[in-house]
Amino acid sequence: MKTYERFLNYITFDTQSDSHSSTFPSTMKQLKLADKLVEEMQGLGISDASRDANGYVYGTIPPSKGSEGKPGFALIAHMDTALEVSGNNVKARIVEYNGGDIVLNEEKGIVTKVSEFPEIEGSKGEHLIVTDGTTLLGADDKAGIAEIMTMAERLLSDTSLRHPKIIIVFTPDEEIGRGVDKIDMSKITVPFGYTVDGGDVGSLEYETFNASEAVVKVHGVSVHPGSAKGKMKNASLIAMEYNALLPEHEVPSCTEKREGFHHLSSITGTVEEAELVYILRDHDSEKLKKREEMMQDAAEFIKKKYGNSTIEVTINQMYRNMGEEVMKHPELIDSASKAMEKLGIKPRIEPVRGGTDGSRLSFMGLPCPNLCTGGHFGHSRHEYVTVEALDKCTEILINLAAELA
Ligand SMILES: [Zn+2]
Repeated sequence: MKTYERFLNYITFDTQSDSHSSTFPSTMKQLKLADKLVEEMQGLGISDASRDANGYVYGTIPPSKGSEGKPGFALIAHMDTALEVSGNNVKARIVEYNGGDIVLNEEKGIVTKVSEFPEIEGSKGEHLIVTDGTTLLGADDKAGIAEIMTMAERLLSDTSLRHPKIIIVFTPDEEIGRGVDKIDMSKITVPFGYTVDGGDVGSLEYETFNASEAVVKVHGVSVHPGSAKGKMKNASLIAMEYNALLPEHEVPSCTEKREGFHHLSSITGTVEEAELVYILRDHDSEKLKKREEMMQDAAEFIKKKYGNSTIEVTINQMYRNMGEEVMKHPELIDSASKAMEKLGIKPRIEPVRGGTDGSRLSFMGLPCPNLCTGGHFGHSRHEYVTVEALDKCTEILINLAAELA
């Protein structure tokens, strides 16, 4: 079966996760796709394929002859789709694309415009799979699932293809940050893996941000405004003063690539109390530490001016750059790069300005770079993937298996 045929089937399953739910998985509809995948895996000859009570799917492709001694690797993709746009009743169609705007929905006037999404022109000459503009497509991450499944079918049906042991893992709830919360590491009996959850063909990601959070609490003194002279300390004004002490260009709207930032994510305040919550990000852990110190230094200035009990800053660690864990296994990146180069694809190694499930897995002992899926504009009604990209990403996985065999 071709990768796009599988993909078109998987996106008929509504697997949207729900951050307000306290169950695991967060939505029971994800289990329908999980069970379908188990059945399909068993049909392909993955005899140990199973789904656990939390909705995780596991299965093993045994090594080809001669590669029994190799350590093997894991491939991980997520089944759920994002919260921003519905994934219910996805009506996909295939467009032979020759450039220009794409009318997704004539009636509702939903158009993917080149002026807003210039990268679509990079897919000229390919067959785009798009939605009718009322839902997302679900290439994030059902493209990854379809590519892994098609790779599995090929490896299991063609004995001339070399590969080590491969553990397949499909997870629920990635989009709400719980994708690895209940992963069973004892089932992943290999030293490393790859998440297949990246973007355009050729993207290869193994560096994420180091992330922490700074919670700034300001305590004011409230006095009747009519008789406040020399007495009032307005917590909200002091909070604004605090923010003005931070470098104004080191914020998300002014930074890119490897530049870190502080980002004011919420602000609340009265005269008596104010709270500022910042997220701090940097690929370089030393620079993040400096940034944390900067938050404290700004508080010291406020203390000198208004008194020691005026302000306190609490720093909370969130996640760390997985690059340092991945680089303990350089063969991870070398093999993925070679798998792409063999197809004439130039790997584009770029640091992620965020975190991935792979960053958490990396610190749980399973270093996990992120491989491309071919998807574009995830979490949006304009999401698309091309038939050709799905094929290429499948070939990358087959080559990768050969590299590691
Ligand atoms: Zn994803």
